[in-house]
Amino acid sequence: MTGIASAIRTLKEELPSNVTLVAVSKFHPAEAVAEAYAAGQRIFGESRPQEMHAKAGVLPADISWHFIGHLQTNKLKYVLPVAAMVESVDSRHLLAAIDKWGRENGKVIDVLIEIHIASEDTKQGFSREEALQVLADAAQYPGVRILGLMGMATLTDDENIIRSDFSRLVALRDEVVAGKERFPGLPERFGILSFGMTHDYRIAVSMGADIVRIGTLIFGERTY
Ligand SMILES: *Cc1c(COP(=O)(O)O)cnc(C)c1O
Repeated sequence: MTGIASAIRTLKEELPSNVTLVAVSKFHPAEAVAEAYAAGQRIFGESRPQEMHAKAGVLPADISWHFIGHLQTNKLKYVLPVAAMVESVDSRHLLAAIDKWGRENGKVIDVLIEIHIASEDTKQGFSREEALQVLADAAQYPGVRILGLMGMATLTDDENIIRSDFSRLVALRDEVVAGKERFPGLPERFGILSFGMTHDYRIAVSMGADIVRIGTLIFGERTY
C-alpha cells in the first residue's frame, strides 16, 4: 500500500462517520489524486482554478471537487463547471459573480461563506458582522445555495488560540441557525461547518466540524 492510501485508510478509521474528509490535493499531481481515489477517497480540495480544472479533466467523473482557495471572478469559468462546492466565498463581489454564473447556466452552486477567524490579517474572509449581513441577504442570490461556513484558525501550536478561533465559527453558525427567521434565503440544510487542517483537525473534530480539509497528512509536504 502506498503512503497516500494508508493515510486515507487511517484517517477514515479515525474520523467519525458524520465527518466528511476533503483530501486537499493542491500542488500535487493527478497521479497522487488517483492513488487516493483508488483507496476510496472521492472528495478533493483544490485552491488554484486552472489546476483544479486540469485535474478534473483527467480524473474520474465521480470525484467531488471542492474549491478552497481565493477565487478571482475572472477564473469562475475554470471552477464552476467542475466544482461540487466552493468553500471559500470571501467577498460579496465573488458571491454575486457566482450567483450570476449560476443563473446564466441554469445551475444552483453550493457554497460556504468563509469567515475570518484567525488573528493574522492575511487570511481571507468575512467578519462576523459582514457575514450576518450577507446571510440575511441570501435570497438576493438565487444562483447559489449557502450551506454553511468555512474558516481557518491562526497558524500556531497554541491549542487555546486554535480553540478560540474555531469557537467563533461554531458560535456564528449557532447564532444563524437559532435566528432562522432573520435569514429567509438560507436553505433548510444551512449549518455545515468546514474547519480543521493537518495540524488542527483533531481539535476541529472534537468541536463539531462537519468537514475537515486535510492535505499534508495525506499527500506529504507541498513545494511551492
Ligand atoms: C492548503 C489548505 C488546506 C490543507 O492544509 P494542510 O495543512 O496541508 O492539511 C486546508 N484548507 C485550506 C483552505 C487550504 O488552503
